[in-house]
Amino acid sequence: MNAIGSASSPRWYRGTVSGLSAYLSDLRAWGAGAAELVLHHGPATEQFRFVHVIAQDWNATFAQYHARGIACHAHASLAPGFRLEGWHTDAKFVRAQYTPLLAFCARMAQAEGRGVTMVVHGAGDTKATLGANQDATRGFLRWAEGEIVRLGGGVQIAIELLRARGAGDVHAASGRERAMVLVRDCDPALIGICWDMEHDWFNGLGDPAWTPRPPDAFLDRVIHAHVHDANGATLANHYPLVFNTVPYDSMAPLLVAHGYTGPLILEIRYRHALALGDPQFWMGQSYAVLHRLLTDTDGALRSGRPA
Ligand SMILES: [Zn+2]
Repeated sequence: MNAIGSASSPRWYRGTVSGLSAYLSDLRAWGAGAAELVLHHGPATEQFRFVHVIAQDWNATFAQYHARGIACHAHASLAPGFRLEGWHTDAKFVRAQYTPLLAFCARMAQAEGRGVTMVVHGAGDTKATLGANQDATRGFLRWAEGEIVRLGGGVQIAIELLRARGAGDVHAASGRERAMVLVRDCDPALIGICWDMEHDWFNGLGDPAWTPRPPDAFLDRVIHAHVHDANGATLANHYPLVFNTVPYDSMAPLLVAHGYTGPLILEIRYRHALALGDPQFWMGQSYAVLHRLLTDTDGALRSGRPA
């Protein structure tokens, strides 16, 4: 079965070593086989430390996951200094920002003896054209391919399908077609797509032709997947799998049936889980929903809603 995991913001374990140990016990109890660490280096506010694993904690955090047999993947820092929008003005700076992230991912891959995927957001400069954002992202990916090989391999980059912001959206990866265009000329062994099912569903709200099943050419390039729910009333996302607003009960099984062998990562915001009651309870429920979806091989399951 594909590994199920979650995006492990320090917020979930109060950012402390003892908190992490207890949290890892919960993850094992829920059946976690993977995790996604949001890696950051450089200045970080307290708010930032809720979400990101800062450089001084990278090794110790990874060691604890590794000791519990939970495979680590990564997401690049969400700080402004890591945005690919900067590629056109100062590619040297962007390369310097990403080199330590890729090097740490390569070290994790070597320690674990298997591939590590790092999720990256494409360029989305709202004052630039779509073409300029695509060029910036492609420039970064071309460089990253060489850098991964130089580091000894073991790392893949997954460009995440993001929510589009309105009709005039110019983000390089805010749709199935755009994500496919970005990775088309890249080495499939190194670069692929992170299928965020909620973002994809959200983009489909304004498209009567949208269905939960992307074209095979898209599914062929998916190397990582994010699963979270949306509040049907507010459309706020990164919720536990509780509303079944997002048709993940179709999307997750069809991805696996297509031959996908990567992890399914729950990307759940702590405060959304908290708003529903006990955050740990709702995270556990979300693991149970995904587990049911992946083991329901006879198709008996009709809803991803928790029992
Ligand atoms: Zn995501």
